[in-house]
Amino acid sequence: MPKDDMGRTMFERGRPGQRGTGALEWDIPRPGLAALFPDKFRRKKAPRLPELSEGEVVRHFVNLSTKNHHIDKGFYPLGSCTMKYNPKVHETLARLPGFTTLHPMQPAETVQGALELMWRLERMLGEISGMQAVSLQPAAGAHGELTALLVVRAWHLSRGEDRKKVLIPDSAHGTNPASAAIAGFDCVTVKSGADGRVDVDDLKSKLSSDVAAFMITNPNTVGLFETRVEEICAACHSVGAQVYMDGANLNALVGIARPGDLGFDVMHFNLHKTFTTPHGGGGPGCGPIGVKSHLAPFLPSPRVTHHDGAYGLDRPSTSIGPVHGAFGNFLMMVRAYAYVLAMGPEGMADIGHTAVLNANYLYGKIKGSLQTKYAGPYMHEFVLDGSPLKKTDLHTSDFAKRLLDYGVYAPTIYFPLIVPEAMMIEPTETESKATLDEFAEIFLEVWRQSREEPDTVRTAPHNLLLRRVDDVKAAKDLVLTHPF
Ligand SMILES: *Cc1c(COP(=O)(O)O)cnc(C)c1O
Repeated sequence: MPKDDMGRTMFERGRPGQRGTGALEWDIPRPGLAALFPDKFRRKKAPRLPELSEGEVVRHFVNLSTKNHHIDKGFYPLGSCTMKYNPKVHETLARLPGFTTLHPMQPAETVQGALELMWRLERMLGEISGMQAVSLQPAAGAHGELTALLVVRAWHLSRGEDRKKVLIPDSAHGTNPASAAIAGFDCVTVKSGADGRVDVDDLKSKLSSDVAAFMITNPNTVGLFETRVEEICAACHSVGAQVYMDGANLNALVGIARPGDLGFDVMHFNLHKTFTTPHGGGGPGCGPIGVKSHLAPFLPSPRVTHHDGAYGLDRPSTSIGPVHGAFGNFLMMVRAYAYVLAMGPEGMADIGHTAVLNANYLYGKIKGSLQTKYAGPYMHEFVLDGSPLKKTDLHTSDFAKRLLDYGVYAPTIYFPLIVPEAMMIEPTETESKATLDEFAEIFLEVWRQSREEPDTVRTAPHNLLLRRVDDVKAAKDLVLTHPF
């Protein structure tokens, strides 16, 4: 068999006459079948399906599944996105018929268990974050950002203020300015200081009575805790602006600090980051938002209620309305709920500590190679400055491609924008010391190759089915059907 035979499609592999099953002859009389399927709906020609044996089909898909990297196959040091282990028991629970056979239009009295689960998860997230009300409706972090900004605007409008500006640090994730723009705000960039944290003087100079909100990620995208967060919140509040915490990095805080206690008014959670639900190719996800009580009346509707032992639904007139069909992606909520219950208060309290320990341990092992731009200690992730690679005419993207050859995923690269040739690494708390040691060894080996045999790195990957793809063409020129 040629080495890359598994790269062929099923159509290319099929041979006429191969079958996976032997269909039994149907011996039950079927009167009127012809009438059920009028002639005009019947195929004139047999469909062009690949013809293979059952064994070939199974091998094809199993082999295909190993061509892609995923969290169940190997280490995934993807900074910012928190690719932590997805416990398999959650899948079993999310497939319980009592959950999967529900219909979103069922009367509340017939879905008490599902409503109770949502009600409890809202309270768990509130307790973990120090927020006073939570909506589970948004489908992802970015959708949570948009929802939160709509809530913030509704609050300002309720006070007779139509504020136009949202302030965002230059280290922010691209979804922050995108969400603010979609919500109709003008984005104003706040500079980072020499230490990688928000330049508070620059922030203060841009605060005015026209600022609706300041969006800040804490710990920020270079893995540093924003130590002046209380002063930042006070400054924003003094001009009536709301402070939004992008909670993508909440992993670092769980069990240690609560955004609500730090002074934030509103935040989002990424259940697929902090709460172990699968990332899954863009959806369906869940990006709840948490708010302080003054913003609660504006949260998306319907809201889950609990009175006299019964769960119900409420549609407050002050709400911004629904932001998702029905209740959001309910089965993601089931998984996150199972996770919090399984961890328990003590397990949850360990998350932040272990995430921070793992990141600092890993940086300690590799800092003899590439180094960070800003001084640590770091929270759950660190960002390396890849510019020394230029000495041998290499780039961060070459280094990342070479890591793929060793069976680990590439770190996030070229983000955040304030670090040149950035390489952002987050091991997460679910990786063992042995995995971190192994990754450090691979990393140092690729660093050695970068200096001593740069061509090996420049032309990587060498061990994968596909070598270098044309990134721009791959993104802009999608071919969604196979020519066969
Ligand atoms: C992942 C991420 C987001 C967006 O979250 P999605 O759930 O992917 O939409 C926003 N901000 C930061 C810092 C992130 O890492």
